[in-house]
Amino acid sequence: MAADAAEEHVERRADEHFERLLATYGSPLYVHDLGRVRQAYGDLAAALPEGARIYYSLKANPHPGLVAELVRAGARAEITSRGELTAALEAGCVAGELLYSGPGKTPGELDEAVAQGVRAFSVESFGDLERIGAAGVAHRVTADCVLRINAAGAPGDAGLRMTGSASQFGFDLDVLLSAPARLRVPGTRVAGLHFFPLTNARDEAGLVAEIVQSIRTAAELRDELGLDLRLVDLGGGFAAPYAVPGERPRYPGLRAAVTEALDASLPGWRTGAPVVAFESGRHLVGDSGTLLTTVTDVKDSKGTRFAVLDAGVNHLGGLSGLGRLLPMKARPLGGGEGEPQRVTLAGPLCTPADLLGRAVEIPGLRPGTVLAFPNVGAYGLTASLLGFLGHRAPAEVLVDGGEVVSATRLALHRHQVPAAGEHSAVTAVTEATAGTTGTAARS
Ligand SMILES: *Cc1c(COP(=O)(O)O)cnc(C)c1O
Repeated sequence: MAADAAEEHVERRADEHFERLLATYGSPLYVHDLGRVRQAYGDLAAALPEGARIYYSLKANPHPGLVAELVRAGARAEITSRGELTAALEAGCVAGELLYSGPGKTPGELDEAVAQGVRAFSVESFGDLERIGAAGVAHRVTADCVLRINAAGAPGDAGLRMTGSASQFGFDLDVLLSAPARLRVPGTRVAGLHFFPLTNARDEAGLVAEIVQSIRTAAELRDELGLDLRLVDLGGGFAAPYAVPGERPRYPGLRAAVTEALDASLPGWRTGAPVVAFESGRHLVGDSGTLLTTVTDVKDSKGTRFAVLDAGVNHLGGLSGLGRLLPMKARPLGGGEGEPQRVTLAGPLCTPADLLGRAVEIPGLRPGTVLAFPNVGAYGLTASLLGFLGHRAPAEVLVDGGEVVSATRLALHRHQVPAAGEHSAVTAVTEATAGTTGTAARS
C-alpha cells in the first residue's frame, strides 16, 4: 500500500514535469533523461567482464547529446553511415576510436571516413575488405579490420538471430577458411573478430551461451588462420522494453560466466591482448526516452472508438511498420478520468497503417488528453517514417536531474546537389549533416 502511494507520488511529479515541458516545447515531444543513460551504462559495465570496452551503436539513437553522455561515461561509438559519423564527431568522439560497421559501405563513404580519421572497420565480406583497403591505400594509412563472423550459434533461442543462416552480415566460417589468402589486402590489417549473433535477448542463459560460443569460435579462428587478435567484439543482444512499461533486464550471472570463458580461451584478454568489446544500442538508451503525444480527435466508427494522436508511425515505431503493430502501451498524463475504455490509437498520417495501438484499454481520452509512451529512447524518431506526409518532427528535450540541458528539433530539408564531377569531399560532409540537422550536443 505504502509502496503504491510512493509510486503514485513519483508518477504525479513526473507528469507535472512532463506537462511543464509540453507547455514550453509543444506536442508531440520526446523527453530523454540523461541520468537514466548514465545508470544504464553503469549497470551494463558492471554486468560485463571487468574492463571490457562498450561500443554504443548509434543506430539506436544518434542524438549527439545522448552520444556525448555515453562517451563521458566511457563508451565508444559504433557507426554505420555518414550521418552517424557526423553525429559521433559532433558529440565529441575521437575519429580514431570509432568502429565503422554495416553492410554495403560504399567507396565514397569509406574514403570520407578514412579522411576524417576513422581507422577501425567491421568487415562483412572479402569485397568489403578490398574497398576498405582501397580507401586505406588512397590515404596511405592502414585500416584495422575486424572480421564479422556469421557463425552457427549456441543451441537454444534467446532472441532474433542475426547469424547462423544465410545472411548479408559477416563471413560464413567455411567461406573464410577456404580463402585465407584473400585476407591479405594492402591498406588493411586483420585486427580481430566481430560477432553479433542476436539482439534483444531477455534470457540470460541463452545470451551467455551465445557469447561463450563466440569466444570459442574466436580462439579457433585465431589458431586456424594465425590471426593476431587485437580486438574481439562479442556483440551484445542486451534487451530493453520498447514502448511498454517495464524495466531493463539485468544479467547478474553474465560477468562470471563470460570472464571464465575468456580466461579459458583468450587468456591474454586481461592485459588487452585482445581487447574485449561489447556493443549495445537499446539497452543503453531505451529507458531514457518518453514520447508525449496529444489526442486531437476522438470518434466512433462502426463500433470502434478511435483516438487520433498528433504523433504516429512518422515519430514512433516506424521501424516495425510494414504491417506489424508492436504491443505498445501508453498511459494518460494525470492517470486519466473514468473507467478504462477500449480505443484504437491512430496517428495523423493518411494511411490505415498509422496505428500506435489497437483496441487498447485507456481511461478518459478526449481531445487534449496527453499520452505518454514509455521506454522509447531507442529506435524512436530516427527509426520512424519521419519524411512521410511531412509533419514537423517532435522537439527532443534532454533533461538531467529535472533540468533541461538541450532542446532541439530534427529537420529534413532539401538542398541543391552539385553534379558528380564537382562533388568534393567537403560538400559531401556537409550533406551528411542533414541527418542530424537541428540537434546539438550539450555544452
Ligand atoms: C543493431 C546493431 C547493434 C545494436 O543493437 P541493440 O539491439 O540496439 O543493442 C549492435 N551491433 C550491430 C552490428 C547492430 O547491427
